[in-house]
Amino acid sequence: MRPDILNPLFAETETLDGVGPKMKKPLDRLGLTRVRDVLYHLPERFVSRRAVTDLDEAGEGENIVVALTVTEHRSSRNARAPYRVLAQDAKGNVLSLTYFGRASYTARKQLPVGEKRWVAGKLERYGDMLQIVHPDHVLEEGGESLGHLCEPVYRLSEGLTQPRVAGLVAQSLAKAPELPEWIEAQQADREDWPDWRDALNLAHKSENPKARDRLAYDELLANSLALMLVRADNRRRRGQALMGDGRYRDKLALPFPLTGAQQRSIAEIEGDLAQEAPMLRLLQGDVGAGKTVVALEAMLIAVEAGAQAAMLAPTELLARQHYETLRRMATPTGAEVALFTGRDKGRARESILMGLLDGSIDIVVGTHAIFQDKVAYRNLALVVIDEQHRFGVGQRLMLAGKGRRAPHVLAMTATPIPRTLTLAQYGELDVSKLDELPPGRQAIDTVVMGQERIGALVDRLASQFGEGRQAYWVCPMVREMDGPEDVAAAEARYAALGERFGKDVVLVHGQLAPELKDAAMERFASGDAKLLVATTVIEVGVDVPNATLMVIEQAERFGLAQLHQLRGRVGRGSEKSFCVLLHGENLSETAQERLKLMRQTQDGFLLSEEDLRLRGGGELLGTRQSGDAAFQIADLEQITRLLPTAHDDARLLMERDGGLEGERGEAARTLLYLFERDFGVRTLRGG
Ligand code: ADP
Ligand code: MG
Repeated sequence: MRPDILNPLFAETETLDGVGPKMKKPLDRLGLTRVRDVLYHLPERFVSRRAVTDLDEAGEGENIVVALTVTEHRSSRNARAPYRVLAQDAKGNVLSLTYFGRASYTARKQLPVGEKRWVAGKLERYGDMLQIVHPDHVLEEGGESLGHLCEPVYRLSEGLTQPRVAGLVAQSLAKAPELPEWIEAQQADREDWPDWRDALNLAHKSENPKARDRLAYDELLANSLALMLVRADNRRRRGQALMGDGRYRDKLALPFPLTGAQQRSIAEIEGDLAQEAPMLRLLQGDVGAGKTVVALEAMLIAVEAGAQAAMLAPTELLARQHYETLRRMATPTGAEVALFTGRDKGRARESILMGLLDGSIDIVVGTHAIFQDKVAYRNLALVVIDEQHRFGVGQRLMLAGKGRRAPHVLAMTATPIPRTLTLAQYGELDVSKLDELPPGRQAIDTVVMGQERIGALVDRLASQFGEGRQAYWVCPMVREMDGPEDVAAAEARYAALGERFGKDVVLVHGQLAPELKDAAMERFASGDAKLLVATTVIEVGVDVPNATLMVIEQAERFGLAQLHQLRGRVGRGSEKSFCVLLHGENLSETAQERLKLMRQTQDGFLLSEEDLRLRGGGELLGTRQSGDAAFQIADLEQITRLLPTAHDDARLLMERDGGLEGERGEAARTLLYLFERDFGVRTLRGG
């Protein structure tokens, strides 16, 4: 149970003054559903303004406060055009206060013609007119004081304004109780960190590295503690020692010999599985390194030992692909492989559920649906998690730990994660590395060219198809998430390429009905379709060795690690493969450098490190905004700097200070609930 002291923090945002159904929506969009979330909605930056008597004193791009007299309101019949309020300063200079969308209602109310107002905002030039877009403040009096303030700037969504959010933050701060200290006194002293409540107050008020560090540390400590609790619990709970006799694996008729790295990894896994203590191992291997076979061998060991294995994929598309691959490979062994996704309905679903329960299904591949409450296994002993970095932290491991006996867990990733980040995401775990690509792979030639040469590229495509080859075409990433704009871009490209290639082109994106998506994938995988046009959904795992050309539009918008993943879709067969990176005009210098690096190297680790340096690791930890992100407060720099200490501290607390008993343990428990890592606490009870 959550400690009572935290109740005010977990109250819904509707309990704050001024939040009704209308305001709830934009807040929800930012993920601010409870008082706690508002408290942790820390400013992106701070602005300070200068009070000026007239616009001649101010520079373009400067944040100012100035007294103006409103002269005219101008709306346009064109709904897209902004609403403009013209106003004059003391010298008669004219300025436009510019409002987009519904913000014009506010303008009408706040700025009556003929009245004097203090306006605060950023001065810009639009054509030959000075303007302030969406002023931060419009005041009848007392505006001078704004000139001295340092104000927080928060991330907003439509329907919210800075003062609104600031108001909610102030209300939330007032509700924040004093919490018991979970950070060791010595450390807090040494770092000179404020206590929790002060830290929040300070972090909202001004640039305050100490306060920000403390809050980040809290999050890291909570995470480390939770992972450690789960791990300890895992060790306490016995798993099953799985001893394979080779009778399934012997019948595997692989068309290739395993690489040394694959053999080594399999041996490491086999050693772990033979122990009663549940395995927790990460299999790292660049795209195309051959992780799937390793997973299959591991799962067959479980089957030989009379148990079941499950493989969890991040998307339905990938689950399906894995299923096809595994089933094809496993057929000669006689192991029964099934696919289970949230989409299965009725009879089909029932029969899979039965098969899992009575043990007639040996291996199940699926999305997280395979861990729903309703899914019961006869004897699930091994869980393989593919492309783990797409999921939230240890959550999946927690899920995997649902049974009375903890299953062995093998997480697989193509992202070479630096050690600090592995620690952050998984806690302590063992790592196997596939540091050797299967033989016979040819280097992929990477070409960088401007979007304007697309015509020539399409001709090149035609000749590829003539030779019986296939190709991918990845459309520009408009948003990070395969949103409506991405889909629109993909559809437009699909239509254009369809004019030239007709039925040879298929389209896949995240918002396509699953049946259509599968049908398209199947046509491409079978070789019936020559060109797969896609948003970034094909990023991971899709395996079509006959595809030898990868085109990526607006490659400058992608991260290096992501480009590397995408490029890894080709070069899987013995034919020479190419990757074409198209870019728009006016490429920045960094962008040029990054694309050049793509051309020069195929070393995934190097690209990842470089990406980390250039982009701040968001990609490795999951996008910040998504609910799956590992950390909301701590940024990459803080993780790297503070996590090792948090980790050691968590261990001391667990080992020396009696876990969550005792005074500090009690406080740590509160911390776990505050960061909703309370699954860690739950493992302490029952079990
Ligand atoms: P990833 O590590 O990216 O998941 P896959 O498991 O999809 O890689 O393997 C990529 C391709 O390499 C597949 O077509 C697979 O059949 C092939 N492959 C795997 N191991 C070997 C090997 N030892 N020799 C040759 N080809 C292999
Ligand atoms: Mg894979």
